[in-house]
Amino acid sequence: MNFNFYLPTEIIFGCGKVKEFNQLIDKDINNILIVTDKNVFEKSGACDAVLKQLKDFRIKIFDEVEENPSFSTIKKGTKIAKENNVQLILGIGGGSPMDAAKGIAAFATNKGNIIDYMEGKVLSKDPLPVVCIPTTSGTGSEVTPYAIFTDLEKGKKMCFSNLKIFPKFSIIDPELTFSMPKYITINTGVDVLTHAIEAYLSTQAFPLNDLFAIHSIKIVLENLKLASQKDKEAMNKLAYASMLAGITITHASTILLHIMGYPLTIFHSIPHGRANAILLPAFIEFMKRKSYLTQKVKTIVSMFKEFGGVNNYIIGLNISTKLSSYGIRIEEFEKFARDTIIKDDIKITPAEVTKEDIIEIYNSTF
Ligand code: NAP
Ligand code: FE
Repeated sequence: MNFNFYLPTEIIFGCGKVKEFNQLIDKDINNILIVTDKNVFEKSGACDAVLKQLKDFRIKIFDEVEENPSFSTIKKGTKIAKENNVQLILGIGGGSPMDAAKGIAAFATNKGNIIDYMEGKVLSKDPLPVVCIPTTSGTGSEVTPYAIFTDLEKGKKMCFSNLKIFPKFSIIDPELTFSMPKYITINTGVDVLTHAIEAYLSTQAFPLNDLFAIHSIKIVLENLKLASQKDKEAMNKLAYASMLAGITITHASTILLHIMGYPLTIFHSIPHGRANAILLPAFIEFMKRKSYLTQKVKTIVSMFKEFGGVNNYIIGLNISTKLSSYGIRIEEFEKFARDTIIKDDIKITPAEVTKEDIIEIYNSTF
C-alpha cells in the first residue's frame, strides 16, 4: 500500500465558532480582504459575526463573486488585494467565494497570466494566507488545495490545483448554513455525496481515505432529506460530511462524473451540485458495466438499496434525472464528450473510458 495523507489546514468545527476565531490570526496582520458574495455574506449571518470581531483590523470587502467564478472576477479581486497591501484573505460563502479567495491569494503574489498558472506554471512566491468560512455543505473547498474557475471565452471550467493554496485554517460553523434555501441544501448536499463516491472509486484511493468516504456517504444518505427540511442537527451533520468528502477529494480527486457535469453548468447554467446529481445514476450504471473495481461499485450500489436504488434516491430529492427536462439537446452531447475526454481525471477513473462511452452516458439520461 502507498499513500500520502497531507492536510495542513487547521480545522475549527462547531456551531458558534465563527464568533471566536480572531485570536487565530497572526499578530503581524493588519490588512484583511474579505472575498464573498453579497447576498450570502448578509443572509448567512457571517457579516455581523465576522465584522464584529475584526474591528481592530483594516478590512476591505470584495463581494462580487458570482457562482462558478470567472477569470475576470479573480483578476478584479487580485487588483484590490494588491492595491490595499492585503496580508490575509478571508473566503466566506459557498465553493465559489472560497475558490475565488484562493485564486486571489495566489495571483496577488505571483505576476503574470492566470491561465499559465492554471496550466502548470510554478508559483514562485507563496500565496497570501487564506482562511475559509463555508456557508454551504458543499464543496469541501475549506479543506482542499483546489480552486475551480470558469474561462468564459473558451467555455471551460478549469481546476487550479496547488498544495500552496490549502487554507491556513477553516472555520466550519454549521449555523452559517442554516439560511440555505431547500434547493441549495439539496444541490450542495449531492455534491458532497458525489465527492465521496468518486474519491472512493478513484484509482488514487487508499483505505484510510475510503474510511472518510464511506462515512461521508452514510451521513449524507441519512441526513440530506432532513437537512433540506431545515432540521438543524441534520444540517450540522451535513457540514461535517462535506468536510470529510473534501478531505477525500484532496487525496483521491473526483473522477469522470464531475468532469461530465461541467458542460451542463457552463452551457446550461445548471448549478454544480445539481449537474452531478442528474448524471449520478447513469454514471453508476456505467461503473457497474465497465469498472474493474467490481466490489467497490457493489458497495456503493448497496448503500442506495434502502432508497430503491440510485435513480430513485435522486428523484426522491425532487431532481429530474432526465437531461431533456433541462432544455439540453441530444446534438450537444458530441461537444460535451469532446470537452470531457481530454481531461486528466479520465485517467484516474477505474474503467476504460472512450468518447463514445461518454456520449452513451449522456444519451442514457435523455
Ligand atoms: P456557490 O456557487 O458558492 O453558491 C451558490 C449559491 O448559494 C449562491 O449564489 C448563494 O445564492 C447561495 N448560498 C450560499 N450559501 C448560502 C447561505 N448560507 N444562505 C443562503 N444562500 C446561500 O455554491 P457551491 O455549490 O458551494 O460552490 C460551487 C462552486 O465550487 C463551483 O464553482 C464548483 O466548481 C466549485 N467546487 C470547488 C471545489 C474545491 O475543492 N475547491 C470542489 C467542488 C466544487 P445567492 O447569492 O443568490 O443568495
Ligand atoms: Fe463538486
